[in-house]
Amino acid sequence: MSRIEPSGIRRIFELMTTMEGPINLSIGQPHYDPPELLVEAACRALRSGKNRYTVTQGLPELNARVLAQVAERYGRRPESCLLTAGVSGGLVLAFLALLDPGSEILLPDPGFMMYRNLAAVCGAKVRYYSLYPQRPGERFAVDGNELQALVTERTKIVLVNSPSNPTGGVLQADEVRAVCKAAERVGAWVLSDEIYDFFVYQGSCASPVSHYDRVLQFGGFSKTYGVPGWRMGYATGPARLLEAMKTLQQFSFVCAPAPFQYALLEALPELDMQPYLDDYRHKRDELVRALHPVYCLRPPEGTFYAFPQLPPGVSSDRFLEAALAHKLLVVPGQAFSQRDTHFRLSFAADDATLLRGVTVLNELARQFA
Ligand code: PMP
Repeated sequence: MSRIEPSGIRRIFELMTTMEGPINLSIGQPHYDPPELLVEAACRALRSGKNRYTVTQGLPELNARVLAQVAERYGRRPESCLLTAGVSGGLVLAFLALLDPGSEILLPDPGFMMYRNLAAVCGAKVRYYSLYPQRPGERFAVDGNELQALVTERTKIVLVNSPSNPTGGVLQADEVRAVCKAAERVGAWVLSDEIYDFFVYQGSCASPVSHYDRVLQFGGFSKTYGVPGWRMGYATGPARLLEAMKTLQQFSFVCAPAPFQYALLEALPELDMQPYLDDYRHKRDELVRALHPVYCLRPPEGTFYAFPQLPPGVSSDRFLEAALAHKLLVVPGQAFSQRDTHFRLSFAADDATLLRGVTVLNELARQFA
């Protein structure tokens, strides 16, 4: 426990509950409710006795559906699938299965804070590869040469998260190939967190699944379908690793929540999420239009986050304090990174809140100019 710290985002969440009329652009979940069809399917599952444990790996039909979907998207069908208690649950199982004390793990900087804290719990040594652009205003991207220089014989995991929390970047096929090449040189696993795969605004999402055998891919239902509280996710990959994770799941989560497995199995083929995606694309466009070029910010390629630079010479502490004075909540880049140069905005909010938010941000830019 002495190696890990409570989540900075949770702290902001707690702060918000004490404020009146906050402008909350710190949220890491969609602002919409799940489609009615899905809610109805969950109610039917609860009422028809689907409240017992399922088998550890989850309903075979739902596993098969996930594998078919991955095969269709990436041209390759992983050997095995495990339904997990959210992607978070899958990450816990994978880290426990793969990392020994002293193992090395390569993580993106900036990146989702759960990775480094779970790695610390396992006693692993974290090394970071940078996603920051060489020049302000360029893409957040992977540098294959840097990765090649960082991998060692002790590297067990190279983790990628695309679309990325917090940058909103989506890895291109050549970046994904470079990641796999670096991992392959030392026989490391590539862990690919694809929880935001639905939220891609231009082009498509490349996955290591198409390029390398030792890939553990994570996907989720939380964000896409607006059900983060359901705790439903999955992991796909080689059977041997999935078996190890399944054994750990027997002694921890037992199974993913049963009624929600049934609900997703029943409703998934009927759901049309395209209108939700179109709405988020529109929000993204409006946000970038309202903030650029006052803030150095590229249109996010995916997710519902933007990661603008802080005004020059302003620390995130100062910026956040000024934002809070206007009731605006955003997350400091520091929460995700070794650097303190950016902040994360979530555009998973209604249009009126977004408008209030950009008005404050433009005011702050003037204040710090
Ligand atoms: N990975 C990333 C990058 C995330 O942003 C999140 C949620 N904030 C998760 C995993 C966990 O998602 P869940 O456990 O709800 O599936």
